[in-house]
Amino acid sequence: ASQTPTVIIIGAGMSGISAAKTLQDAGIRDILILEATDRIGGRVMKTQFSGYAVEMGANWLFGGGPVHNPVLEMAKKVKLKTSLNDYDNLTSNTYKQDGGLYPKKLVEAVDKVAVARDDFCAEFSTLLTKKVKNDVDISILAGQRLFKQEPKTPLEMVIDYYHNDYEDGEPPKVTSLKHTYPRNEFVDHGEDPYFVADPRGFEIVVQYLAKQFLSSLKSDPRLKLNKVVREIIYSKNGVAVKTEDGSIYKAKYAIVSVSVGVLQTDLIDFRPKLPLWKRLAISDFSMTIYTKIFLKFPYKFWPSGPGTEFFLYTHVRRGYYPLWQHLENEYPGSNILFVTVTAEESRRVEQLSDQEVEAEVMVVLKTLFGNNIPKPEDILVPRWGLNRFYKGSYSNWPDKYNQNRHDQLGDPVGPVYFTGEHNSNKYIGYVTGAYFTGIDTANDLLGCIKNQTCRGYNSQHM
Ligand code: FAD
Repeated sequence: ASQTPTVIIIGAGMSGISAAKTLQDAGIRDILILEATDRIGGRVMKTQFSGYAVEMGANWLFGGGPVHNPVLEMAKKVKLKTSLNDYDNLTSNTYKQDGGLYPKKLVEAVDKVAVARDDFCAEFSTLLTKKVKNDVDISILAGQRLFKQEPKTPLEMVIDYYHNDYEDGEPPKVTSLKHTYPRNEFVDHGEDPYFVADPRGFEIVVQYLAKQFLSSLKSDPRLKLNKVVREIIYSKNGVAVKTEDGSIYKAKYAIVSVSVGVLQTDLIDFRPKLPLWKRLAISDFSMTIYTKIFLKFPYKFWPSGPGTEFFLYTHVRRGYYPLWQHLENEYPGSNILFVTVTAEESRRVEQLSDQEVEAEVMVVLKTLFGNNIPKPEDILVPRWGLNRFYKGSYSNWPDKYNQNRHDQLGDPVGPVYFTGEHNSNKYIGYVTGAYFTGIDTANDLLGCIKNQTCRGYNSQHM
């Protein structure tokens, strides 16, 4: 990299790396990537847990659909180890609050209603987009009410949780119908969920992309790790980026790829302050938390074998340790279970100590499998919401947040461009969304660099 690069990219997650690669491919080689942590990958992050690589962040890739999924393609190139998850068995493995399974037929009937409700929501959303002007949107819950079969009982709630919260990270009540249904990630890329369980981690895919233009992930001068950006000073003349260790980097343009959760905090101070339209677009969007709590036991006491991978726990409190998965298919003999919680439950769990979480989880497991089950040997509670470099897991489109505002979320301000999963229109929240927004933002900036069509300098944008 030259002394003054053309573009500084803040963040080395999927979107930052894909933006950098797009710029490189277009001949803009003097770039500098500043990443706060000591690694690339961002929210695609594995960790070692009791000797096994588990994914704290992104875990599933989708395939089998009519549209090519470039992230799945890269995963194939690096021979990423995945297994196809089968959620159909959930209906056989749904436990009551006080223990014991619900009859399969009953759960199947409830799930059938949920599937019909999803179909209705998808059709109604398409209708709203086509026929109703003025950007009218409603929540998914409102869509469910229009279907006249809003989930009410704990069993209906846990099935609804699986259909919605488990994907969006937030309940139907606060999630946009129009911008969530139909679920483009599945419609386009397919409904086959490939679960990543690879010792190298899902992050090998981001590394693969980065290695196409970086000579090394440790020593290439275009990538600086452990650089926490704290201030971005911008004007018509360019940007100056200050990091926590007191360094200052200058460039003509910046691409900011941090999560919308981070943009909602004061980690990065923009000078001058970002314009009001931009601050409103940022503060009104939603960053949710999705928490996979991993538990390692000395031996397994849960059902194993075909058709047991997932089970549901029903509780009057929606989302109370609802969805469980064992890793026997991926890591036989690992005796690892994990349970997913989201949104407010995640926020609550993150405030507890690991011991307190373990105590709660053990009450649930004893209810299901008896009091004689062993204590876990280890527990892992990721705390995405508390981490200042993420402030949550992924974004969710709130109801009443319109398209215009979302466009503004991604719009440049002067020489400062924005990218990241939250800016995706079609695949918001997903690694594929991050990948595509990186390309889109880089192309937007390339239009400015090469053709002088700089959207950041439109009169309303400064
Ligand atoms: P990030 O990955 O957050 O990249 C931004 C980078 O900026 C990070 O590396 C961060 O460290 C860095 N940064 C932050 N602040 C600063 C600063 N001040 N200075 C410098 N650098 C900074 N997606 C799927 O497709 N499938 C899934 O199954 C799935 N499950 C998920 C489960 C969880 C628990 C989580 C957390 C995410 C999940 N996702 C999933 C979402 C997916 O991981 C994200 O959408 C995607 O990785 C986001 O990429 P990004 O580049 O937009 O952001």
